[in-house]
Amino acid sequence: MYQFNRKEYEERMKWYQDARFGMFIHWGLYSIPARGEWVRSTEEMPEEEYLPFMKEFDARDYNPKQWAKEAKAAGMKYVVLTAKHHDGFCLFDSKYTDYKVTNTPAGRDLIKEYVEALREEGLKVGLYFTLLDWHHPDYPHYGDRIHPMRNHPECSNENRDFSRYIEYMYNQVEEVCTNYGKIDIMWFDFSYDDMRGEKWGATRLIDMVRRLQPGIIIDYATGDSRLDDGTGGSFQSVRKTYVLNTNSKTFHKPDCASVGKIKDSNKQTFVGTREEAIKNGYSPCKSCNP
Ligand SMILES: [Zn+2]
Repeated sequence: MYQFNRKEYEERMKWYQDARFGMFIHWGLYSIPARGEWVRSTEEMPEEEYLPFMKEFDARDYNPKQWAKEAKAAGMKYVVLTAKHHDGFCLFDSKYTDYKVTNTPAGRDLIKEYVEALREEGLKVGLYFTLLDWHHPDYPHYGDRIHPMRNHPECSNENRDFSRYIEYMYNQVEEVCTNYGKIDIMWFDFSYDDMRGEKWGATRLIDMVRRLQPGIIIDYATGDSRLDDGTGGSFQSVRKTYVLNTNSKTFHKPDCASVGKIKDSNKQTFVGTREEAIKNGYSPCKSCNP
């Protein structure tokens, strides 16, 4: 089973911390109504109104070669693309669903094109993958906080089997980690309410991803700080930067007034959780309360 290992963590985070600049691309069926990737949820749009966009999805403006060239010219080092967003529509050719790009007029695997274009320009390859799925019949509908059908009692969850959904999600993550060569970032999104950690089967999921993609960076979103890397960007990071005073054995927020008074020889930067700092024998500073 995967266990957090600080040395390996620092090793795999090295390039990312140097990279500093990348691009996040949202592209999917929601690009047609063009009211945001959450359109089904914010407008509580039933799927009958959303599915017809599949017939219009020709991806005529999908041009990852050009995007990769421009990203590189702008100084970017990596790109992340939505392989699947919350609507459940796949930009890759999944064998576990018909709800995918190869069944649209576009008729081709857009993830394959994307990873090839990035590699050609020497950019690191990131994929975004939702933990939620508003299309899957076994995902909670009625009463869920954000599902498009959350206010529809007729969409009760009585015959939904969440474990079937978890298998489906696991299988799809396995596909994207297997079929496209080396993936540098896996950007899972997101956890809420009791939908977090082992509810997602997080240990098994992350174990599989790390086995298939050694060295991959995985973001925070499974909601389990033991498993994720918690890198920058828009997701909540659980690992923070602290300043250690190795003499007084205290740790501080970087902007604490007392940091300036620590002798350089006693000063150390620490990236980790508060709990890890305490476990290493350090006490939180009383004035900045890190
Ligand atoms: Zn302090």
